[in-house]
Amino acid sequence: MSDKTLENYTPEDIIETIRDNVDAVIIIDYSINQYRALVRRNVFAECIDETGDYDDLMHKLWFHKSDSNEKINSEYDVYISYFGEYKGKNSRKIKVFPKGSDTPKIVQMTVYPIKGTTKCVFIMDELDDDSVQDQMTYGKVNTIQNSFLFSMYVDLILDTTSSISVTEISEEVVNADIKYSDWRLMTVNMIWPEGKDQFLKTTDPEYLKENLAPGHTISFDCQMQNLEGQFIWVKLIFSRAETNNNNDFRFVFMVQNIHETYMELTSTLKKYEELALNDPLTELLNHGSIKSAIKSGIENVHNTGNDVSIMMIDLDYFKEVNDTYGHSVGDDVLKSFAGILKDTLSNTDCSIGRWGGEEFVIVCNNICGRKLDMIAEDLRKKVEETEFPKAGHLTCSVGVTQIKESDTFDDAFNRMDKAMYQSKKNGRNCITRL
Ligand code: GH3
Ligand code: MG
Ligand code: MG
Repeated sequence: MSDKTLENYTPEDIIETIRDNVDAVIIIDYSINQYRALVRRNVFAECIDETGDYDDLMHKLWFHKSDSNEKINSEYDVYISYFGEYKGKNSRKIKVFPKGSDTPKIVQMTVYPIKGTTKCVFIMDELDDDSVQDQMTYGKVNTIQNSFLFSMYVDLILDTTSSISVTEISEEVVNADIKYSDWRLMTVNMIWPEGKDQFLKTTDPEYLKENLAPGHTISFDCQMQNLEGQFIWVKLIFSRAETNNNNDFRFVFMVQNIHETYMELTSTLKKYEELALNDPLTELLNHGSIKSAIKSGIENVHNTGNDVSIMMIDLDYFKEVNDTYGHSVGDDVLKSFAGILKDTLSNTDCSIGRWGGEEFVIVCNNICGRKLDMIAEDLRKKVEETEFPKAGHLTCSVGVTQIKESDTFDDAFNRMDKAMYQSKKNGRNCITRL
């Protein structure tokens, strides 16, 4: 358009200016869910087609996460207030991702309804870099400040929700006109099966009225789908407004992301559990755990009459290994020895533990008689044949016994111990069954 004096501009000039400069002009008809782009340039030239479904257009403009073009989990659709149709005139900044890129363009979007019709016009224009920088920084600060994934106000008496905020979708708060009772039934679909009952119980209006005193907060942890549809650990928090009026039942509902903390806690607990149950050097059961295994073996015999046997294995002249090659070679021998026990017994129902030093105890379920002798002989032979690191060939002495119905712990244990010492007396590298 040529450069004229102000009084010479016509309305057509202005329209032409807009048409030639903005990045998109789109007309929409909600009633048939269709749009048509009259102007499409720059980012819009490739990211939207000339015509198509209004729903698809909205997905491109709104239904992505605020920091990438990944599509959000469809359970969250309801929290986009513009999904059904735009009501009234409005103007806002949105993020549009060029095809295949995770760097958004910030676009000013202005909506003009065409009065008395089911149509409206979108005018969209990419903003200059300066305002993009502002917008990005603002978004980041906001995300850091807001540790809640989701929040909303609820009025139980009116059965309404309001000021819904889904932080990762948009900084804006939406009033999506969702009844609280509908929200509950909708949201339970996003909860991991094991948490559904508790979710329904805790969000039940009657339950909340009884249990949520004014100014108080209740919360519980469960797994819930995030924007990508993955289940993450969250804390659901219900915090009731301070009030003296029993008929005022307004509260804030919030969802806090606790996934990483929860996962760290679980893995720490697992580590402690392993430390408590296992011997750190050999990774076999430790003294306490194998003692419990013997006790449950005895109970098993008392209660069911099943065959349970116990076995003690002691390395012969192990002190010499330490004295000759040092303690760390001795440790390596103990680890290899534990490996032989695990491998040899991998297909049996046996619990293997380190009783202490170079003494090991095995609880053998459903094993007795000849089968027990064979297993013991197999172990003795494998140890004899093994070339241990640095220490070379070593042998072991074995004592075995089957638990009797009349046995106490001491009876069974002492018989096994005695059997092992009998093997030592008999010249080592052999098995005694008592
Ligand atoms: P025997 O044939 O009579 O069983 O002789 P032995 O030398 O094996 O038995 P003794 O009880 O005299 O010595 C056991 C040695 O085991 C003494 C100790 O230094 C060593 N020992 C105990 N626990 C460990 C350990 O965790 N690491 C290492 N390297 N050595 C250990
Ligand atoms: Mg020994
Ligand atoms: Mg010993």
